[in-house]
Amino acid sequence: MDTSAQKILVVGAGLSGVVIARELAEQGHQITVIDKRDHVAGNAYDYVNEFGIRVHHYGPHLFHTSNDKVVAWLSRFTEWLPYQHKVKALLSDGRHVTLPVNKETSDIVGKENVLDIFFKPYTKKMWGIELEDLDPTISQRVPIRDDLNELYFPNDTFQALPKEGYTQMVKNILAHDNIHVQLGVAYNKAMNVEYDRVFNSMPIDEYFEFKHGPLPYRSIKFHTSTVPIPKVLPTATVNFTHHEPFTRVTEWKILPGHGNNPAFTTLTIEEPCDYKDNDFERYYPVKDGGGENLARYRLYAAEPSSNVTFIGRCGLYAYLDMHQAISSALSIACQ
Ligand SMILES: Cc1cc2nc3c(=O)[nH]c(=O)nc-3n(C[C@H](O)[C@H](O)[C@H](O)COP(=O)(O)OP(=O)(O)OC[C@H]3O[C@@H](n4cnc5c(N)ncnc54)[C@H](O)[C@@H]3O)c2cc1C
Repeated sequence: MDTSAQKILVVGAGLSGVVIARELAEQGHQITVIDKRDHVAGNAYDYVNEFGIRVHHYGPHLFHTSNDKVVAWLSRFTEWLPYQHKVKALLSDGRHVTLPVNKETSDIVGKENVLDIFFKPYTKKMWGIELEDLDPTISQRVPIRDDLNELYFPNDTFQALPKEGYTQMVKNILAHDNIHVQLGVAYNKAMNVEYDRVFNSMPIDEYFEFKHGPLPYRSIKFHTSTVPIPKVLPTATVNFTHHEPFTRVTEWKILPGHGNNPAFTTLTIEEPCDYKDNDFERYYPVKDGGGENLARYRLYAAEPSSNVTFIGRCGLYAYLDMHQAISSALSIACQ
C-alpha cells in the first residue's frame, strides 16, 4: 500500500469491508464505506426486537476460531460472552439427538442410517442437489464422532458472542475519524474514478455483467415469530431431519446476552432456496462436485479490474466464516 494518504471506497459494510476500512483508516487514508442495505454488519447484522430479544436477521452467527490474531483484532472493538454452540436434531419419532453425529447419536439411530437421516435430506434441502453431486469438502465440515462430545465446533479454541451484538461491534470498528459511512447507497462503476482504490464485496459476476455466466448461490428465507411460551427448544438450534423444506430452527433467547423475557420467546425457521427465489440475496456460493462454478469464478477473477480489489464471500466467491472473512480482509489490507 502506498504510504501517502489515499481516497478509498469500500463497497459493503459487512465484516470484510469494515475490517479493511478500519485498517486503512488507521494508516491515515480517507475511507468511504457504502452499503446498499440500510444497516451495517452485512449478514452478521443483529437487532433487539420489541420483546427485548436479540435476533440475528440473517440466521444464527456463531463466532468460533483458533486464529488468535483475529480474536485479538476483534477484541479491540467488543467484549465477549463465552458460548459453545450445541445443536440437536429432531427425529421423526420426536426424540432429539446430538449433531454433529457423535457416538450416542449413531447408537440411537444406527450407524448404517446416519447418511439417510442426517446428510441426504439436509443436502437436498440446503443445496438443492443430491449428496453425491456436492463437493465433499462441504459435507466433511460436519464430521461423525466416535465419542460423546456434544460441541458443534469441537476443535476451535475461541468460541464466544460479542457482548453487545455484532451490529454494535461493527459500529465500533467503523467509529474512526477517517471513515465515512453511507447506507442505502448502491455501487456503480462511475464511482471508480473518484477514488484511488476500491475494495468491493459485491458479487464478482454482477460486476462484470455476467459475461461468463452467473455464479450460482443458495439463499435462505427466514421465518421469524414470537410466541407466548417461556422456552421451546432443548438447544439454541434444532435441525430438522424430515423432508419438508425447512432445515433448522433457532431460539434466540437461549444464546447468552440475547434477552431474558420470562413470558415470550422468538424463533427463526430457515427455508433454503435458490437466490433467484429470494430477491437475489446471495448467501452461500455453491461448490459443485465437478468444480464448474469455481472454474467460472476463476474466469471472473482473471478479468482486469483496474483499481478494484474484490473481497468477501461474494467478491471471492468463497464459503467464508466470519473469522476467515476477517483474516482474509486483514491480509488484503496489508498488501
Ligand atoms: C445464513 C448464514 C449463517 C452464517 N452463520 C455463520 C456462523 O455461524 N459463523 C460464522 O463464522 N459465519 C457465519 N456466516 C458467514 C458470515 O455471514 C460471513 O462470514 C460474513 O458476513 C462475511 O462478511 P462479508 O463482508 O464477506 O459479506 P456480507 O456480510 O454479505 O457483506 C457484504 C455487504 O456488501 C453489500 N453489497 C453487496 N453488493 C453491493 C453493492 N452493489 N452496493 C453496495 N453494497 C453492496 C451487502 O449489502 C452486504 O451488506 C453465515 C452466513 C450466512 C448467510
